[in-house]
Amino acid sequence: MAEKPKHTPMMQQFLKIKADYQDMLLFYRMGDFYELFFDDAIQAAKLLDITLTHRGKTNGDPIPMCGVPYHAADNYLAKLVKQGLSVAICEQTGDPATSKGPVTRAVQRILTPGTVTEEALMDAHKENVLLCIHSNSRGYGLAYLALANGVFKVQQMEDFETLEAQLTRLSPNEILLAENNDLNEKLKHWPCLPRPGWDFDPESAQHALQKIYNVHDLIGFGINESDVFLPAAGALIQYVKHTQKTELNHLQPIQVEYLDHYLHIDAQSRKNLEIDYHPDGKDELTLCGFIDQCATAMGSRKVRRWVKQPLRDRSALNQRLSGIEALIASAQVPELQNQLKSIADIERIVTRISLLTARPRDMVALRESLAAVKTLQQTMQSIQLENLVHITQALNPHEDIHDLLQQAIKDNPPVVIRDGGVIADGYDEGLDELRHISTDAGQYMLDFETEQQEISGINSLKVGYNRVHGYFIEVSKLHIEKIPEHYIRRQTLKAVERYTTPELKQFEQKVLSSKEKSLAHEKELYIKLLQTFADHIPSLQLLAETVSELDALSNLAERAISHQFCKPELSQGLVIDIKQGRHPVVETIQDTPFEPNDLSLNQKEKMLIITGPNMGGKSTYMRQTAIIVLMASIGSYVPAQTAQIGDVDRIFTRIGAGDDLTRGRSTFMVEMSETASILHHATPHSLVLMDEIGRGTSTYDGLSLAHACAIHLAQVNQSFCLFATHYFEITALDEQIPSINNVHLNAVEHGDRIVFLHTVKPGAANKSYGLQVAALAGLPTLALKNARNYLQQLENQSVDNSPTQVSLFNEEINVSESKVEKKLQGIEPDELTAKQALDVIYQLKKIL
Ligand code: ADP
Repeated sequence: MAEKPKHTPMMQQFLKIKADYQDMLLFYRMGDFYELFFDDAIQAAKLLDITLTHRGKTNGDPIPMCGVPYHAADNYLAKLVKQGLSVAICEQTGDPATSKGPVTRAVQRILTPGTVTEEALMDAHKENVLLCIHSNSRGYGLAYLALANGVFKVQQMEDFETLEAQLTRLSPNEILLAENNDLNEKLKHWPCLPRPGWDFDPESAQHALQKIYNVHDLIGFGINESDVFLPAAGALIQYVKHTQKTELNHLQPIQVEYLDHYLHIDAQSRKNLEIDYHPDGKDELTLCGFIDQCATAMGSRKVRRWVKQPLRDRSALNQRLSGIEALIASAQVPELQNQLKSIADIERIVTRISLLTARPRDMVALRESLAAVKTLQQTMQSIQLENLVHITQALNPHEDIHDLLQQAIKDNPPVVIRDGGVIADGYDEGLDELRHISTDAGQYMLDFETEQQEISGINSLKVGYNRVHGYFIEVSKLHIEKIPEHYIRRQTLKAVERYTTPELKQFEQKVLSSKEKSLAHEKELYIKLLQTFADHIPSLQLLAETVSELDALSNLAERAISHQFCKPELSQGLVIDIKQGRHPVVETIQDTPFEPNDLSLNQKEKMLIITGPNMGGKSTYMRQTAIIVLMASIGSYVPAQTAQIGDVDRIFTRIGAGDDLTRGRSTFMVEMSETASILHHATPHSLVLMDEIGRGTSTYDGLSLAHACAIHLAQVNQSFCLFATHYFEITALDEQIPSINNVHLNAVEHGDRIVFLHTVKPGAANKSYGLQVAALAGLPTLALKNARNYLQQLENQSVDNSPTQVSLFNEEINVSESKVEKKLQGIEPDELTAKQALDVIYQLKKIL
């Protein structure tokens, strides 16, 4: 006897479909809802904060279920995708009225964090990036795609640190890795998705790429069979084809990125300099947030891309700089920004048009944007900026597309095409006719009624409609003998008879099907309209690119005007010369005036040892130098009076320290591995910021390490280096090594208090003001008093190596503030050897 099926037919269908989408949630369409079952339901109910219930049973156990209304699905999908989940959306593809058993269903869309293009599911100011990594003995190959604009790039690198730096820069939403790749473990904090190993086969990769670009080989793209990124690019394309289920007409030519064309900033330095990340999570406190005041979302993404990937190519940078210069001189920046505000996200709309997922409002936005482009083009033509001729020329308002959209789409269409009312009247005769039938039905009934009254001679004859019987002619039983012969009886009520006629039946058929037909026809017209744009996609992409460039440049011009920036002079040489430099973010957020400072490094004088009190401005001075170099390397004006910036290949920073708990490394270990990386990689063209190196270990270890690092950076690496330290011994290096100079941050004592002047002066600081800073920080008066007495005694003591009576400080001093306070109280100074005394002073200075 055959075994009884364990599941209902619908559940069997669900499980069959689900089997192909194991690694994602399945939204299964049931009437007006998307429903999720089993583990999907449990997971989604939790993430979406919706009720988990049950539907039916399997093997006697209730099946967990949750659901969301289909018309509100976007909000729920956005939440899931933001949390890194992928969702397969399964629609009803058959007709429920004619289906035997469950209506046919199929997955029609797959949303994954790295491939979404729907407006509601993306952040307007951030690129959504899908990235794929391949590795072999020659290094790492990386391919990445921003599906929303079709930009597809590849690069390769030798070391893991550079890979990490690129990941931090790109901050991908999804990373594809072969399931057997060791990197899965190393990158476990990134959103990795294991893919089958065969997707990374170089030969199939080559085929996949050749097919998608319709070429015989990839040489034209500068790609060889042996490139490490080739398998990554192939695996990425296969994944996108699998998830998109449609042609990728908007994909741009694949570009090879050569990392030495860019100013490289490692992952940690990116954080230290707060380029696009701030510990408080506030965008406005980052350099990106400060710079990006763009009028359009496309411009905003572009300027952020520039900030995250500074260039070394002087001519490209000078082109941007002269564009900004021309915009400033035109005095039209506010006007241009105002006009740019009327331009929607054409870049993403074009992609949705190409993927046939554009919504009616995208079309209206495109139409309005093209009109705005026309005005903008006129403005640009009237101000005639020589350096921006290429932009003025490329601002093509695509009048043909504008006019077509004007004819085709209504002014205020609904959000989705599903309910109709999108295609404008007069655009298509067939649609107009279908629409008229339903809208004219009322009039038809009145006309028909009058006509029938005349034919029958029954003045009280009425034509009516109800949902059960459709259209009918109603006649009172009193007039029954006058009924024309061709009337067909439909229904008999107490006082009236209801009839129909072949003509009325035909009309009824027409009206009822016209609504359905008009919806289907409208959908067809809409898709055809999207398809008409296929040939225009590259030129619309160029328009988007042009608008975003103009926006990015106008934005940089606006920043330069409102913050009094200067145009940097870029050179190939070994020079960083800044007059009256400022830190743009610190200056903007603080209430007190910012003190500008000079800095001059060149081939002969490459290192500054920076001393001065805590809170004196050392770190700000160092960071502002890096930020000015970075801003010059995106082609922006810079916060200074004048700036000459040579070719900088990398910025390294060793600033602050915290335990790297995720990797189980102590503060000192983190400090030393970062330092090791700097000493291995910094070149004469690198800018290195070293902030208080050696502070994570005991005084003498720290001092010796700092001393050795300074010498190494000056003599071996020969990098540009700003070296802030508390070890006064290191300031002696300026006597020994000609490329080293001392500077200090100025402060004055005012009574017991200290006033920071934040000005950089030549020479080393002669005092550390540790106690005054501690007073500012609110250390208890008693502790301060003790510290003051103690310091005085220590400083009066002569240094010798006499044996100690107490070995209290023999252990490595790596202690917390409270421990030092405790140790200070009750210790007699003469209990210490001079060596230990020196240690105590250092610890005090460091901690206070
Ligand atoms: P340090 O590294 O010497 O401890 P910081 O660079 O962290 O000092 O500066 C401490 C604070 O001083 C900053 O947060 C900022 O508010 C202020 N500051 C720093 N440099 C300047 C400056 N040039 N002008 C005005 N204020 C400054």
